[in-house]
Amino acid sequence: FVDTPDYDLICTICQGVLKCPVRAACHHIFCKKCILQWLKRYFKETCPCCRMPVNQSLIFIMFKLSKSIGRMKIKCKNEIRGCREKFPLSDQYCHSMSCVFELIPCPYQGCRAQLLRRDLETHTRHCEHWRQPCYMGCGTILSHRTQAQHNCYQQLRQEYEARQRNHRAIAAALQRKMRRMQSTMAHIKRQIGLICESLEVMDDLHEVEEEDFGESSAGSSGTPSSHGSC
Ligand SMILES: [Zn+2]
Ligand SMILES: [Zn+2]
Ligand SMILES: [Zn+2]
Ligand SMILES: [Zn+2]
Ligand SMILES: [Zn+2]
Repeated sequence: FVDTPDYDLICTICQGVLKCPVRAACHHIFCKKCILQWLKRYFKETCPCCRMPVNQSLIFIMFKLSKSIGRMKIKCKNEIRGCREKFPLSDQYCHSMSCVFELIPCPYQGCRAQLLRRDLETHTRHCEHWRQPCYMGCGTILSHRTQAQHNCYQQLRQEYEARQRNHRAIAAALQRKMRRMQSTMAHIKRQIGLICESLEVMDDLHEVEEEDFGESSAGSSGTPSSHGSC
């Protein structure tokens, strides 16, 4: 705080300036969080100042006091790093999000540097973990090291050639597979041919047997009839 806050703006539990002040039935004032924690922890629901019983449903938030505390001027918590800003307590969050003396981590993944917000730009220019896609839209992720010699045309050409090599390899593999399948097919065809041939030979044998049998029976039955007709 710029000026030391009044004694009656101090919470007796946390000894800090009241945060969201509430008043108990005994008129003692505390931070809301502090008194609720106090009541929870010590079970006997009494005021830490006067030991009067405190009913949780009978504590009132003091909006006006809260507002006037919010208007109190404070110094930036980064004063030791050089910030001389003074602003109302209620603006603390806003200021810390823009204070150039705020210590922040480098936003690039893998970088552990902690730096003042005002040094971020300089750091970004040299950060080893800086990564950004090429602004020309070629899709390459660049670091400071590769950015200098990056050439979209070359990069795309290399990628294209690599892809082509890959495609050619796939095509060759497919061709080899086809050839293997074709030779397997030819082999199977030959086998089928052989099986057919052997089946034909067996059929022929059967036919020869049947013919032999038929001829002999026809001959034996034909002789008496021919005899009869004569
Ligand atoms: Zn407190
Ligand atoms: Zn009290
Ligand atoms: Zn500041
Ligand atoms: Zn960095
Ligand atoms: Zn590029």
